Amino acid sequence: PHQLEIRNLHASVGDQPILRGINLTVPRGELHAVMGPNGNGKSTLAKVIVGDPEYTVTEGEVLVDGVNILEMEPDERARLGLFLAFQYPVEIPGVTIANFLRLAMQARKEEGQEVSFTEFYGKLQSALKVLEWDESIVERYLNEGFSGGEKKRNEILQMLMLDPNYIIMDETDSGLDVDALKIVARGVNSMRGENLGGLIITHYQRLLDYIVPDKVHIIVQGRVVQSGGPELAKKLDTQGYDWVKELATA
Ligand code: ADP
Ligand code: MG
Ligand code: MG
Repeated sequence: PHQLEIRNLHASVGDQPILRGINLTVPRGELHAVMGPNGNGKSTLAKVIVGDPEYTVTEGEVLVDGVNILEMEPDERARLGLFLAFQYPVEIPGVTIANFLRLAMQARKEEGQEVSFTEFYGKLQSALKVLEWDESIVERYLNEGFSGGEKKRNEILQMLMLDPNYIIMDETDSGLDVDALKIVARGVNSMRGENLGGLIITHYQRLLDYIVPDKVHIIVQGRVVQSGGPELAKKLDTQGYDWVKELATA
């Protein structure tokens, strides 16, 4: 099955349980939003999926196209086509965007396969076009002195270049102005289609005005307490999160 499947996922930090049995299936071709009040495990879910060592999985599975990825190193997960857009992009002094993109593309290849200049440059041209970004940007050092908007653009540039099968986007929302939201949305929407699945994690429904999700899931206290269509995000926008918190205690 071409899908990202999260089965009864439990995860802790130290001895503190945070995810308490997440069940979620995203078929390739669909983008699902994950929403929920702050501090309820949304970012933890993203980090567990990409293999952040800070979190211990105590139960459950994460299957990418039927393969359990939980024992894999982050770079092996990337090779399966999993892409995580980070909440806090890193600065890597002395590494230009161009170098970083080359390395990241190379890391997705099987051993012995080279990223050709033609492949790299062709993808770069079309990605920069989507982002309305000048080519000179790729000679700058990764995230060094970047504005919030530029960091966001760069993150989306990486995503476009790597051509992932599944994306996990975790937005802090705070600090993202409308222009940045539009950039993110344009990048994601340009990739949408039967080959792309993923989770768009967001506290606010704002981003979902631009990236309309196929489904919406709400996480409270480390569990999915409700799933529905895009209208669920609108409901959260107008009614807030109090009613879902009650679902968790019910
Ligand atoms: P959300 O993204 O929904 O706001 P998080 O997944 O970031 O929530 O956090 C869920 C809970 O887990 C919070 O109580 C948070 O403080 C705790 N938590 C997450 N990561 C860590 C960590 N590395 N160390 C300690 N506590 C953490
Ligand atoms: Mg948070
Ligand atoms: Mg978060």
